[in-house]
Amino acid sequence: MSYRNFKCVPKMIFGRGAFNQLDEVLAAERKDEQDFVVFLVDDVHQDKPLKDRIPVKPQDIVLWVSVAEEPTTKQVDDLTLQVQNHCEREAVSVVGIGGGAAMDLAKAVSLMLTNEGGSAKYQGWDLIENPAVHHIAVPTISGTGAEASRTAVLCGPERKLGLNSDYTVYDQIIMDPELIQGVPKNQWFYTGMDCYIHNIEALEGTFINEFARAFGEKSLELCREVFIDDHIEKDDKLMMASYMGGMSIAYSQVGACHALSYGLGYVLGYKHGIGNCIAFNALEDFYPEGVKEFRKMVDIHNIDIPTGICKDLPAETIAKMVKIAKGMAPLWDNVYGPDWQEKVTDELLTELYLKM
Ligand code: NAD
Ligand code: ZN
Repeated sequence: MSYRNFKCVPKMIFGRGAFNQLDEVLAAERKDEQDFVVFLVDDVHQDKPLKDRIPVKPQDIVLWVSVAEEPTTKQVDDLTLQVQNHCEREAVSVVGIGGGAAMDLAKAVSLMLTNEGGSAKYQGWDLIENPAVHHIAVPTISGTGAEASRTAVLCGPERKLGLNSDYTVYDQIIMDPELIQGVPKNQWFYTGMDCYIHNIEALEGTFINEFARAFGEKSLELCREVFIDDHIEKDDKLMMASYMGGMSIAYSQVGACHALSYGLGYVLGYKHGIGNCIAFNALEDFYPEGVKEFRKMVDIHNIDIPTGICKDLPAETIAKMVKIAKGMAPLWDNVYGPDWQEKVTDELLTELYLKM
């Protein structure tokens, strides 16, 4: 038996207004006048007050990124080239400001600045050769746990797969709950439910251990305070739930919902948060208590969860999704244990998609 030796983020600041400390954190990385920083920012902030609070120096570069589509290897390679063309020196830090998409893009750019050959080459596990440029996450929407994880999920020419490595992990997170105020309600819910679902899948999975359970249970409790109790400090709580959910799955695994959601994402283009909600809504046989509570939260907040999305699709489209979902071996192993292949049949997966 060999246990995972898992790397976590070494430095973090948590608190309302913590964003103001970003300048000071960067000052420690800037050794001389020309040392430059890359700010990779979700372009939703281009017309928000946060824009004028980013501590940009004249030598720095700000990359406004669109997250209308989930991050691609091409987008990462283009952004990396922009940074390389900006200055001959190496950047001293890459700061990702935004949701899971912007945070994953920043992770990937920080890796590609020190690893040659394009990001598609590194989709997989532990393929990265050199340490990344120092990188900092500033979440502005919470739920994915991308701030805590060792992956940067990218859609590549052949597949959607992360750059999974110890070097991917952020050097610093700045968690300022004020930054997640004002996220549109449906999106707040979809991304928040990613966290809720991480916890349910981890806690009910066969991979769970006490380390993952400790984080997962607390994260789940925080999600309930946010989405059921409408707690006055819900932004602080959701931000912490997201981080702890990320820590929990780092030492366990997600399950059936994520496997099916990958199919919805790759074939039908549903983004991670909403795709998870659609899939989870069809999984009462797998997670009866969790799905019941999920539907209660949907009702409380009056959220639109699409239904009937697969019933009119051609059989070959469903078959494509089934193939992708079935390919997520570790996730099914977490659901059923090592004999999962006997249980996860094409018929079962087809039936589940048809329920969505
Ligand atoms: P997102 O990053 O796509 O953002 C969702 C929407 O919210 C976008 O339109 C964005 O512009 C907007 N937004 C962000 N901050 C806002 C703010 N403060 N105010 C108003 N609008 C704001 O969504 P997400 O759910 O955070 O992330 C999904 C992505 O994360 C996917 O690409 C998925 O693959 C990835 N992901 C990564 C991990 C990981 O461990 N690396 C885990 C789960 C998901
Ligand atoms: Zn997820």
